[in-house]
Amino acid sequence: MIDPFGRSISYLRVSVTDRCDLRCFYCMSEDMTFLPKADLLSLEELDRLCSAFIRKGVKKLRLTGGEPLVRRNVMSLVRSLSRHLGTGALRELTMTTNATQLARFASELADCGMRRINVSLDTLDPQKFRAITRWGELDKVLSGIGAARAAGLAVKINAVALKNLNEDEIPALMEWAHGNGMALTLIEVMPMGEIGSGRIDQYLPLSLVRARLSQRYTLTDLADDTGGPARYVRVAETGGKLGLITPMTHNFCESCNRVRITCTGTIHTCLGQEDASDLRKPLRASADDDLLDAAINRAIGAKPKGHDFIIDRRHNRPSVSRHMSVTGG
Ligand code: SAM
Ligand code: SF4
Repeated sequence: MIDPFGRSISYLRVSVTDRCDLRCFYCMSEDMTFLPKADLLSLEELDRLCSAFIRKGVKKLRLTGGEPLVRRNVMSLVRSLSRHLGTGALRELTMTTNATQLARFASELADCGMRRINVSLDTLDPQKFRAITRWGELDKVLSGIGAARAAGLAVKINAVALKNLNEDEIPALMEWAHGNGMALTLIEVMPMGEIGSGRIDQYLPLSLVRARLSQRYTLTDLADDTGGPARYVRVAETGGKLGLITPMTHNFCESCNRVRITCTGTIHTCLGQEDASDLRKPLRASADDDLLDAAINRAIGAKPKGHDFIIDRRHNRPSVSRHMSVTGG
């Protein structure tokens, strides 16, 4: 699959549910309305949709959400998708999770051929964790991470850099992650969805974080290019790897290799644009995949060049109306 700008699409991110057991304040409003269950693709339909993308050249597939591990029977989807690892059609099957349910599922994920996962965690302070997630318990997340590592999964920690909330804690979070053999990636908050408050109070530019870290640590740029939005540095003092995802301060769209599908079968070919096409109708219209393939081709053929996120005092509204939990980041 090649888009109009010559970018080859090999990475699919699938939001298997819009629901979540937490309500991170930058992601959702407290009284989020979730989709009626009847609108969701069944796990069998999600499998068929993912398999069509794999047949068309997707090599890496990430399950996300909402919280992927709260979807009922999600392990049956993971298990069935893992057959594509067995045939070699898929190189990597992975997940982004808040880790609250990980203690229960980690060993089964590893058994399905998952090798690494991303865990989102913005603070190691239990009170701050509760404030950010509105009711989450840090202990559960830490034991989920422990279970994942015990099952042999490599864990990368993702943290959103939040002004006045975790900005002072970033060095400690990094030392904790690196000290435990985990990479840390910092993410700038993106203006997605109405969350009941403005973004200007949350937004902390990573250019500033990097400048502050450079006063204490020796940061060396790494050439690692995963085709993704993160730029990586090695931290000499910890020996660990730090990723910086800077949609607001650095545009990474020229190397974008990914598309996203939602739990209702909508494809979004750009995280930062309103573009969307429905794949559920062609999926359900016929038992063979001709209509579906044609709809996928049309969507890829219309992938936008890039996003234009902007947060400042004049633009303190969502750039994109859907919440991050629709597409899973
Ligand atoms: N629930 C899972 C989790 O938290 O890892 C998966 C879905 S969550 C939407 C995926 C990632 O998006 C998380 O790392 C979260 O911190 C991040 N995220 C959510 N809303 C965001 C926003 N407005 N800007 C930047 N990152 C956001
Ligand atoms: Fe849930 Fe993840 Fe959004 Fe937090 S970031 S509310 S854990 S979907």
